[in-house]
Amino acid sequence: MPEKDTMQISALEALLSQGGDCVIVTHTRPDGDALGSATALCSYLRECRGLNASIVLPDSAPDNLSFILQGFEAVDASAQSGKAAGLISSCKLLFCLDFNAFPRAEGLQDLLAASHAEKILIDHHLNPDREAFRLCFSNCEVSSACEMLYSVLLALPDIGTDASRLPSRCRYALMAGMTTDTNNFANSVYPGTLRMASALLESGTDRDSIIDMLYKRDRLQKISAFADLLSSHMQILPGGIACIFMSSDMRIAYGLLDGETEGLVNIPLSAEAVKMSVFARTEGDMVRISLRSKPGMSANDFARTCFHGGGHELASGGKILIPEDISDESGAPAYIAAAAARFLQSRDGGKEEK
Ligand code: 5GP
Ligand code: MN
Repeated sequence: MPEKDTMQISALEALLSQGGDCVIVTHTRPDGDALGSATALCSYLRECRGLNASIVLPDSAPDNLSFILQGFEAVDASAQSGKAAGLISSCKLLFCLDFNAFPRAEGLQDLLAASHAEKILIDHHLNPDREAFRLCFSNCEVSSACEMLYSVLLALPDIGTDASRLPSRCRYALMAGMTTDTNNFANSVYPGTLRMASALLESGTDRDSIIDMLYKRDRLQKISAFADLLSSHMQILPGGIACIFMSSDMRIAYGLLDGETEGLVNIPLSAEAVKMSVFARTEGDMVRISLRSKPGMSANDFARTCFHGGGHELASGGKILIPEDISDESGAPAYIAAAAARFLQSRDGGKEEK
């Protein structure tokens, strides 16, 4: 752990020792890493520190990932806004996990900014908003917020680098979140990721059950939808940019549930010819974009410059706004094709100038 983080650990230990209510918040549409890190931290704060800790999610967790939270009820701020506001404005310690700046918590953004709590970021995205936090544990060279949290917890004196001292629900949630963010050890795996996995396994974490819950419980309907999306709705744009668009009608016809398209965006990258993959789908009054790329092509730059988004170098997300960017969802494929052409031109233009 860098020296700066060691100093921050002492400050965190002092804050935890002072006590007070803790609230843990993640980004909107929480994924496995958001839910895993929130559950793991909640388990540690309650079981190891005896603190009153709550999890507040900007919106609901998808059904297929709710097993990660099991036993740790979370407040869904989109359904219980008063309760969420009360917790955030009255807590002493406010932990923000798996996001780098308040806007990523969408509806909770203003409450987070206004809260007088000590704010602590634990994250692994590019460009953390350091000014907004009292303590900022952020490193892009780790697999996940779960791995960042793991290194913070192991540095605290009560755990003393011994993963077996973490509560078993904490270990389980850390393993689950790290597994989803690495796409089951396919991406963003660092030496520390494998050390963490090894220590969690050694201390008895049931990885087989995590794999079963994550990867062996799909509905046949989901597999059929993926097959159709890949065979009939994938376009290969110039520059090896694969693009799949799912309209609201298609989603209804497929009968897909929340969270069931997770993972689709990775599949086109298995083709050698594909350098970047775009998955776009209509969600309410916007078209949500997921981007994945291979080294040499920056998903983060594409998300930032064309889709009001960001994330990691090779895995990012964003949106196309209706009506600001397109008048209705049918304009999405053409908007993406034009954005891809612009993006390639700016990269290639940039390269020639060097
Ligand atoms: P996914 O495609 O899995 O939803 O997101 C991939 C990555 O991009 C995640 O790390 C996520 O936090 C980030 N991301 C997704 N959507 C947005 C967005 O609208 N804005 C920003 N800044 N990051 C996003
Ligand atoms: Mn993450």
